[in-house]
Amino acid sequence: MLFDTHVHLNVRQFDQDREEVIERAKEAGVTHMVIVGFDHETIPKAIELAETYEHFYAAVGWHPVDAIDFTEKELKWLEELASHPKVVALGEMGLDYHWDKSPHDVQKEVFRKQIRLAREVNMPIIIHNREATEDIIKILQEEQASEVGGIMHCYNDDPIYVPACLDMNFYISLGGPVTFKNAKLPKEVAKMVPLDRLLIETDCPFLAPHPNRGKRNEPAYVALVADQIATLRGISAEEVQEATRKNAHHLFRLS
Ligand SMILES: [Zn+2]
Ligand SMILES: [Zn+2]
Repeated sequence: MLFDTHVHLNVRQFDQDREEVIERAKEAGVTHMVIVGFDHETIPKAIELAETYEHFYAAVGWHPVDAIDFTEKELKWLEELASHPKVVALGEMGLDYHWDKSPHDVQKEVFRKQIRLAREVNMPIIIHNREATEDIIKILQEEQASEVGGIMHCYNDDPIYVPACLDMNFYISLGGPVTFKNAKLPKEVAKMVPLDRLLIETDCPFLAPHPNRGKRNEPAYVALVADQIATLRGISAEEVQEATRKNAHHLFRLS
């Protein structure tokens, strides 16, 4: 049984065959997933899917790339949604220095506002990080994010930053890149993170694991991520599945 902690089944890329994708996930043993909404279009769709399927949950947040569009209205909206019974986390939120739609200072402010909201409503947060690890850790520390903890989603940086994340009660989530032949860092991370702080995800439709690299990703492929981590750690795939499923239940406070 697998828990995919980060999926975007709520995006257009799945409009043609969403039911079949969900069926394939079930056949592959993916029993639980968190559908992550990040803007006006994807947040309601994440909630709709979470309401429709048992063991599907939603996370709601504002993506850093679109930080420039975030106003008090969106903040209020997220606050209201946080009390929905199927919403288990706030995010994804964070910093993305790869795209320049939103200036860094705007991204930082919107990130801080969402962390403060998470502390108010007492919910874990899901962090999106692209080329901004040091700034993210600094802001999480300053905003006392350790109070709620959360996930470093699709962790893709140097293992030297992992201890600081663990210290703040964050889990490290690995996705497709851990299976890429030339991806040295995620493989190192897969070996060093304590098993009780590790999560797995697809981030579908993006970042499909080997041998599906370059294709549209889907939750069924999260098994390939678990298999790769098991190989790297020298343990069984079942152990990885079991631990990551248990960790996700703990973090999202599911029974
Ligand atoms: Zn992301
Ligand atoms: Zn995502």
